[in-house]
Amino acid sequence: MKRNYHTHHYLCNHATGNTEEYVLEAIRNNFDILGMSDHAPNNRVGDYNVRMDESEFDIYLRDIEESQAKYGDKITILKGLEVEYFNDHEDYYKNLRKKVDYLIHGQHYISMTDSMNDLFSGFGLRTKEEILKYAEILTKAMESNYFDIMAHPDLYMCGYKNFDETAEKVAHLICQAAIDNDMVLEFNANGFRRGRANTPQGILQPYPRMEFWEIAKTYNVKTILNSDCHSPKILYDDVIKEAEEVYLKLGLNDIGILKLKHKQKGVI
Ligand SMILES: [Zn+2]
Ligand SMILES: [Zn+2]
Repeated sequence: MKRNYHTHHYLCNHATGNTEEYVLEAIRNNFDILGMSDHAPNNRVGDYNVRMDESEFDIYLRDIEESQAKYGDKITILKGLEVEYFNDHEDYYKNLRKKVDYLIHGQHYISMTDSMNDLFSGFGLRTKEEILKYAEILTKAMESNYFDIMAHPDLYMCGYKNFDETAEKVAHLICQAAIDNDMVLEFNANGFRRGRANTPQGILQPYPRMEFWEIAKTYNVKTILNSDCHSPKILYDDVIKEAEEVYLKLGLNDIGILKLKHKQKGVI
């Protein structure tokens, strides 16, 4: 069963390819399921160089629907989005959930004050306080029950780099919250493209960090491998195959097919 639930789209302004181009690549590689999950519009963040404008949301949905109609007999195509978790956004999430099959939570920004005024990049967390705040935000996101998958939970290591006691604590907090809230954690293959840097633990890619996933394994937390591709030709290229090999070797609790939350009772 080959599937990818984390696929971008040209509308976010830093990816290429429309739905049809990703679908054709998925069919060529014998995929059974392709979930489109571009960065969701959010005019309260305003970073339109990395996400679609609200006026483009319907174009995105229609683009997916056209491929569903054209290729639905060959492959299951799902409508998804990748979204950050912010306080005071309840209506926003409820509205998005009505329009798509699933939401991926990807926390690319954090705020130390839970506001929209002092957001900074989740790729550049440096202090113990910042990575503990990251764990707190991820926990709140999981508790909200709006999300089906948590993208790259180990993204905090990108800036922090040293897998010290605090980094280990953050991993435990995230994995425990994933168990408590039945969340699927994503092993993000796109991290394998981000180069390697010096860390106290050696020359390593920013994420996935194996120390995190060894801890995840002890919790038997549900996991999934996603390509997080920003171009059709890298949906399943050699880098993804390398990541897949590492993922399989880890022996994590792979879910196979995602159970869509909106199809379960009691979930908005
Ligand atoms: Zn992106
Ligand atoms: Zn993504």
